[in-house]
Amino acid sequence: MSVERPRGTNDYGPEEMARRRAVEAILREAAHRFGFREVSTPTIEHLDLFTTKSGPGIVEELYSFKDKGGRDLALRPEFTASIVRFYLAELRNLPKPIKVYSVGNVFRYEEPQKGRYREFTQFNAEVIGAPALQGDAEVVALAIECLRSVGVRDVHVRIGHIGMLRAFLKLPPEDQGKVVHWLDKRNFPALKAELARLGLASLETPLRQYIELKGGTEVLDKGAKLLSGVGTEGFEYLKALAARLKLYGVEHLTYDLGVVRGLDYYTGMVFEVDSPNLGAEKQVMGGGAYSLAEVFGGDPVPQTGFAFGLDRIVLAAEAEGVKLPVPRLDCYVVPIGEPMQTKALEILQTLRRAGVSADIDLLGRGPSKNLDYANAIRARLAVLVGDAELKKGRVAVKDLDSGKQEELALEALIARAVQRPKA
Ligand code: ATP
Ligand code: MG
Repeated sequence: MSVERPRGTNDYGPEEMARRRAVEAILREAAHRFGFREVSTPTIEHLDLFTTKSGPGIVEELYSFKDKGGRDLALRPEFTASIVRFYLAELRNLPKPIKVYSVGNVFRYEEPQKGRYREFTQFNAEVIGAPALQGDAEVVALAIECLRSVGVRDVHVRIGHIGMLRAFLKLPPEDQGKVVHWLDKRNFPALKAELARLGLASLETPLRQYIELKGGTEVLDKGAKLLSGVGTEGFEYLKALAARLKLYGVEHLTYDLGVVRGLDYYTGMVFEVDSPNLGAEKQVMGGGAYSLAEVFGGDPVPQTGFAFGLDRIVLAAEAEGVKLPVPRLDCYVVPIGEPMQTKALEILQTLRRAGVSADIDLLGRGPSKNLDYANAIRARLAVLVGDAELKKGRVAVKDLDSGKQEELALEALIARAVQRPKA
């Protein structure tokens, strides 16, 4: 039997798990504030759900297998394809627009490193069936609200338009997918080779200049010039989107025509967020507008979505020293001497029933060892149950942060314990 974790997977201890859950809770609350509702889809799907339209990047990274019935299945590498499948089968009967989010693990066979794993967690949100401008604005605004709520500040939100690039390339989907993929990965030797194969070597220079364009509105005009002949529709659209986002309080956007989402299904506005603190694996979110329902045989419907990498946003928060609202144990109950055991257990029950999180010594240790333990698990209050205080109807309560100790009746202790300091 192998006792090592599979490569690229993680174990998360209690402290780390608490931080991950805190970030997850913040993202969920932000989604709820924006009227998004949670849905859940299976971890395994039919393989062809992902091979149909996800693009070369994702197909190479799929974990796929045959089940005992001989079916070709895959572990999900992302949520969007599953959401669209679910939409076509059922969700489309709901009143529009459909605003949903999901949180869960996804799997990609990648080269593992810090921030890049083979199993990781995504927070995914989608709007289906709203007009593009309205839907896009809502989705971009939610992504920005998620970052604000978590408290990470050193992040760059960059918006581009993949539709213009696709219009310029005018290639059949397969060839286009490859060119877009190499542009996304900034793999210029592979890009050059692919363009040469397609007899489009002359496009290399304008394409490479185009993906370097980044900044204010002037960038959009330069982009239109470089992609001569494609018109300005997508660029005008981005200006309209920026104007609408202003009404959401989003003040300035950075345009980045180098945002080239690798997945084939992106067709319009695309956007990414990165945190420069994370080094090489700095992208914490990616998203955009796409048309996937048609690919699966449904009627065309506008869709926009994004996915945060939960692991990376937790790393970004840690790198910035963001204080996350991690729940702590309210009370650690310490019986002072064996005869106090019964009374201490009674107090423990009273606290737990009153909604206070409370724990008690299970190992029969002395008071000082117990206080060490209470500090190590970051409890807030130590409740010392001793004979002298009990005779007065009280317990000694030590605040483990300030070190201050006072005597409190049980009701007063409960009142104190439920007043939890904000993180
Ligand atoms: P990258 O260019 O870093 O591979 P991607 O374009 O493949 O990212 P998406 O498919 O847009 O990423 O997934 C959304 C988010 O999921 C990313 O922005 C990133 O934060 C996170 N993510 C992607 N791949 C991994 C991974 N292997 N491990 C951890 N997080 C990941
Ligand atoms: Mg990737």
